[in-house]
Amino acid sequence: MLELKNIDTYYGNIQALRDVNITVREGEIITLIGANGAGKTTTLMTICGVVPARNGEVLFQGKPITRLSADKIVRMGICQVPEGRLIFPDLTVRENLDMGAFLRDDKSGVDSDLEQVFTLFPILKERRRQLGGTLSGGEQQMLAISRALMARPKVLLLDEPSLGLAPLIIRQIFDIIKQINRESNTTIFLVEQNANQALKVANRGYVMENGRITLEDACDKLLANDAVKKAYLGL
Ligand code: ATP
Repeated sequence: MLELKNIDTYYGNIQALRDVNITVREGEIITLIGANGAGKTTTLMTICGVVPARNGEVLFQGKPITRLSADKIVRMGICQVPEGRLIFPDLTVRENLDMGAFLRDDKSGVDSDLEQVFTLFPILKERRRQLGGTLSGGEQQMLAISRALMARPKVLLLDEPSLGLAPLIIRQIFDIIKQINRESNTTIFLVEQNANQALKVANRGYVMENGRITLEDACDKLLANDAVKKAYLGL
């Protein structure tokens, strides 16, 4: 579905990604874990065309997208939920959701996706007339995920959805991520610092350190790996 091949990404002279190789198969949840500054967000920005790779290739369904503009990549079905949510605070919940669907012209599809989003997150239905900026952190994360779902993505890129949320809400968000993957077969690329939760929800995981992938394996194997336990699971 998505493949990063030998990716190098730079900010000016600073190299943030070094020879990164990641494969995401259709219908999978994969997670990329790593410390602050490891290069996780940059990886997502490179996939989306916001910070294009200097070397290497990003393939989507076998076609190179490395040098396409960000809007073309979104139109192809790759949607990112950025770190820190970044919803529109002065628009209502409903208007935020409408913004997610602005590239679509299939009104009946949009209406049915809106109903699905409200089934996944009933609180958003209750609050549909409320301004986005007045929602709690957890509700804003739900809205950010829902807004991306309104574009009906083939691949959903999630950047630290658990950031700053209470444990109960984090569990709820991860359950919904699994549900989205299961019910709509959406492929999910999950970037997380919360390695423990991320490795429990995903099928396969990659560990990133200083811009390089240092480990990749099935999540149950990574959860049992001594180096991962020590560095990322606090065990
Ligand atoms: P975090 O978990 O803290 O978000 P991360 O793993 O997502 O970290 P990135 O945000 O991808 O890491 O950052 C990777 C490296 O690139 C860091 O050294 C960071 O300082 C640098 N970097 C990120 N954005 C920029 C930028 N706009 N200009 C220059 N350097 C940047």
